[in-house]
Amino acid sequence: MVSTFAPQAAGDLNFLKKLNRSSILGTVRRYPGATRADIAARTQLTKATVGGVVQALLERGWLREGELQPRGGGRPGRALYLDDAHHVLLGADIGVRGLRVVACTLGGEVLLQRYVTEAPTTPEETAKRLAAMLRAMRDDPVIADRHCLGLGVTVPGPVAPEQPILRLAPNLGWVDVAFLEVLRPYLPEFDGAWLLDNEANAAAFGEFYFHDGIPPESIVYISAGSGIGSGMVTGDNFPLVPRGGQGLVGEIGHTIVQPGGLYCHCGNRGCAETLVSGWAIRASLGIADTENLEAAIAARGDDADVNAVLRRAGEALGILILNLHHTLNPAMLVLGGSLMHLGERLIEPALDYFETHQNDLLRGTQRVPIKVIHDSTFTAARGAAAQVMAKAALEA
Ligand SMILES: [Zn+2]
Repeated sequence: MVSTFAPQAAGDLNFLKKLNRSSILGTVRRYPGATRADIAARTQLTKATVGGVVQALLERGWLREGELQPRGGGRPGRALYLDDAHHVLLGADIGVRGLRVVACTLGGEVLLQRYVTEAPTTPEETAKRLAAMLRAMRDDPVIADRHCLGLGVTVPGPVAPEQPILRLAPNLGWVDVAFLEVLRPYLPEFDGAWLLDNEANAAAFGEFYFHDGIPPESIVYISAGSGIGSGMVTGDNFPLVPRGGQGLVGEIGHTIVQPGGLYCHCGNRGCAETLVSGWAIRASLGIADTENLEAAIAARGDDADVNAVLRRAGEALGILILNLHHTLNPAMLVLGGSLMHLGERLIEPALDYFETHQNDLLRGTQRVPIKVIHDSTFTAARGAAAQVMAKAALEA
C-alpha cells in the first residue's frame, strides 16, 4: 500500500513533529470535541507534546476551543474542534464532460462550488479554463480573506503512484500528462500543497476524511459516469489509498466481464465499461455525444429499449459492486457518478444484484452498507480538497 503522503526518514525530528501534528488533527477530525487529555489517550503522545502542538494549532487557526468538557474526577478540559473560519481548501475535478471547482473549510463544509459543462479539449486549453475558474472563485468575497492551504486536482484516469502524472484518460485521449506543471504557470500566486489524483480515489478519500462521525474501517467509492472507476481508503488518523505498482488499483471499468464482447476504448474486448458507462449507454441507444444523456433518456419516457439497456447496465454495475465486495471487502460502499442521474431504472437492478448475492460466500446475514450519492457533481473535487488538508497537515 502506498499512502497519500510520502513519509521521510523516521529519525527526522522535524518530520516527527509534523507527524504528531497530523495525528492530533486527525484525532480532532474523527472525534470532534475531544479534549487535550482525550487526544493524549488516543494518540499515546505525552500531555506536554499534545499541549504544545494544540497551542500552535490554535494560534495558526487550524483548531478552535469550545465548551468545557467535564471529566470524571479530573479537571475539566476544553473541547477542541477544527477551526472552519480561517482557511480554505481548493479542489478541482476535470471530468470527461465538464470542469468543477469547490472551496471548502477544514471540516469539509463547501463554501463555494462552480461547474461548467463544456468538455475538456487539450491539457493546455483545459488548464487555461480551469485557472480562470479557480481565480474567479479565489477572488469571491466569501473566501478572499481566507488563507489557502492548497489545491487538489482530479482526473478521469490512473495517476502514477509516485509522481503527479496522469497516465491515461481513455475518454479524453490524454496520455502521460503532468497536469500540475501545465496548470502552474496560469496560477503563479496559488501556493500551498498541490496534488493530482484519480477522481475515484479522491472521491473515496473525501467520503472517508469528511465522514460525519467516526469513519468505517474502510470505504470503496464507485464512480459510474462516462467511464467506471473506483477508489479505496482505509486507516485511522492517516488514511491510506492503495494505488498499486502502476496506479491501476480500482480500474474496475476495464475488468473483463464479457470475454469476446464489444471493443472498449482501452483496446480490450468485453470490459465492464462496454456494458455500464455513459459512452456504452449512448452507443446502445444512439444518443449523440453532444446531447445531455439524462435529458435524452428522460425524453424517451418509458421506452422498452431504454428500460432494457438501463437494466443491463445496472446489472453489470451490480456485478462490479459484488466483485469489489469479494476482492476488497470494504466496510462501506459508496456509489456515485453521473449515471446516478439516470435514476432507479439503473440503480435498482445494481443494488438488487448485490443484495441478492453478497452473502453467498460467507453464508452470513451481515449487510455491507451502500450509500448512493444521487448528485455527486462535486464529490471528487471536495475529495481533492480533503487530500489537500491531509497533505498540508504534514507539510505546512
Ligand atoms: Zn477497457
